[in-house]
Amino acid sequence: MATINILDKKVYNRIAAGEVVERPYSVVKELVENALDAGATKIVVDIYAAGKELVQVKDNGCGIEKSELKKAFLPHATSKIKEAEDLENIITLGFRGEAIPSIAAVSNMIIVSKAKGSDKGYCVRAKDGEVSEPEEFACDEGTCVSVESLFFNTPARAKFLKEDKSEEADIQNIMTRLILAKPEIAFTLNLDGQTILQSYGGGLSENAIEIYGYDTVKNCIDFTVEKNGMRISGLIGKADFTKPNRTYQTVILNGRYVINNTIQSAIHNAYAPFLMKRRYPFYVLFIDVDPEFVDVNVHPNKTDVRFVDNQVVYGTVYSVISKRLNDFSEPPVVERNENQKNEEFSFLNKNVVGESEAKEASAYQERAFSSPQKHENDFSDIAGKARSLTLSDVKREKEKGGIGWLDDAKNSAFTLQSAGDDENEKPTEIVDIFAENKKYIEELERKKAIEEETKKAKQESMEVNGGYRIVGQVLTTYIILEKEGDVYLIDQHAAHERLLFNRLMKDFKEGGVAKQTMLIPYDLRVNETESRFLSGKIKILEKMGFEIGISNDGLFKVYSVPYLFEDFDVKEFFDDVLSDLGLKKLDVPETVYDKLAQKACKAAIKSGKNLSESEIESLLKDINYDLSLKCPHGRPISVKITRTEIDKWFKRIV
Ligand code: ADP
Ligand code: MG
Repeated sequence: MATINILDKKVYNRIAAGEVVERPYSVVKELVENALDAGATKIVVDIYAAGKELVQVKDNGCGIEKSELKKAFLPHATSKIKEAEDLENIITLGFRGEAIPSIAAVSNMIIVSKAKGSDKGYCVRAKDGEVSEPEEFACDEGTCVSVESLFFNTPARAKFLKEDKSEEADIQNIMTRLILAKPEIAFTLNLDGQTILQSYGGGLSENAIEIYGYDTVKNCIDFTVEKNGMRISGLIGKADFTKPNRTYQTVILNGRYVINNTIQSAIHNAYAPFLMKRRYPFYVLFIDVDPEFVDVNVHPNKTDVRFVDNQVVYGTVYSVISKRLNDFSEPPVVERNENQKNEEFSFLNKNVVGESEAKEASAYQERAFSSPQKHENDFSDIAGKARSLTLSDVKREKEKGGIGWLDDAKNSAFTLQSAGDDENEKPTEIVDIFAENKKYIEELERKKAIEEETKKAKQESMEVNGGYRIVGQVLTTYIILEKEGDVYLIDQHAAHERLLFNRLMKDFKEGGVAKQTMLIPYDLRVNETESRFLSGKIKILEKMGFEIGISNDGLFKVYSVPYLFEDFDVKEFFDDVLSDLGLKKLDVPETVYDKLAQKACKAAIKSGKNLSESEIESLLKDINYDLSLKCPHGRPISVKITRTEIDKWFKRIV
């Protein structure tokens, strides 16, 4: 029988290093986490040659006593936990006692430290796993860990390092997350002597501005909510503020930057109704829970966590984010940008949507406003409406003048009466004229009563219509509404598309769709994990119109599919469902979403179609006058132009 060897600590540490010290950025992460655990308020990270030559982390934390310095290099040596039960209640970032020995096993490491209250500092060097005795060293309170020649003794690993630029990007990325996670700590990151990132401990908004810029932060919702034993806070991008990739997403759980499927899919699904394809939400989300309810000891690099109850976490995060997004979701407002505001009356040749973010906000606005020619049309239309508004003001004045006319009529009667006093006039004629005038006055009063009634009916219908007044349709594409001094342009196609899509989706979710039986049942072969996942979803799938039989060895037979799709690709559908495995709950897989969206798009009224007033009314009623909706592809269905903005166009106000 083969002999079983107890590995030497040097060999053991190198094996552990394989898990903890993946690349230079992981060294940065471990050392900064140690500094944070030591209570540092100021942390400076210096990197040379993308960390291949030097990674140095200097802090002003509690420092390490001389007697403890060598101990830090021993495997499983930690000051953060003692007993097994302590694992249930971890409040520090580190606890495994692996980083220092693992990093030291694959580099030359120097630790210089002066413990708080101590009058002397000390230095230890570890070379190829051998640790020197502490030597006196003049330094400030705190610790400075230098990691030189990373992976010098593990050439295979060194070969896997990426190009400098790429390693540097990863370092910058992890530092960004650490800075966001600890808004009260001052961080500096220097690459080859040049400062790349700097924060001053001034709070989340300040840090976020430092990292992402003001334009991003001003498009965010800042909130704190406590719900179901969780405290959820941070900055999340408004529904129409999205990014082209996932790098703008940070979750900080109990002060630790984590990548966790439950949380990420809850956020993603909350944003789903607003997202265009290949757009991703922006968020820096802090979640605090009792450490008892979360296991951080899942992975050597401690980036993932496990919750005692995933459902509660998913549900809470989902509902909190959805609520914020809905509360803040409004039709985009048309506004000139700062430059334009200061410019003269030259907007006819300019792009009305000035906000830089608006560029990425929606294809809709681009279509409507980007070309000067098109814009001119839109503008003239809006200007026309503004004019007609003014005209209607005039008309209202005239209507008031109805009373004026009445006065005129009375006056004329009086004149005639006076005239009747004229001795040349016959009295009978005077009576006749009175009768005529009385009739005229009565007629006017009757008209006025009708007008009043119509006005009242209109008022009532306005109340029903959420206060919106339908102005009409323009360019056979847009519906114009007015409410409380603001003007709304609605894309008739997008609005109808959303309406049809919601109906299709409801049918689909509630099992209101017919089944179509396949000519030949489709064989779906899956592995064990997939099989377990699918088995748990059979009920939902059946509700959606599928008929599925399970046989042994992970073979599923699909007998029928929802009738909703003429060209249903069973393989594509299940590939999609399985790619969601463990990530999103099977609410509506992306293929279904796309198919329903396509169907809605095809059936929806197109631009270029004339709509009667009653058609407009019924469309708006069907969408419950909810102008904050998006089309299934995430484009807004409406745009708001404020009275102030229009007044500015005409220089009524500046
Ligand atoms: P862990 O962080 O899991 O405890 P490490 O191997 O990262 O394990 O560190 C070992 C120990 O060294 C820590 O528990 C801590 O006591 C000490 N230590 C490491 N870095 C620092 C630092 N920057 N300041 C103070 N103490 C430190
Ligand atoms: Mg540590």
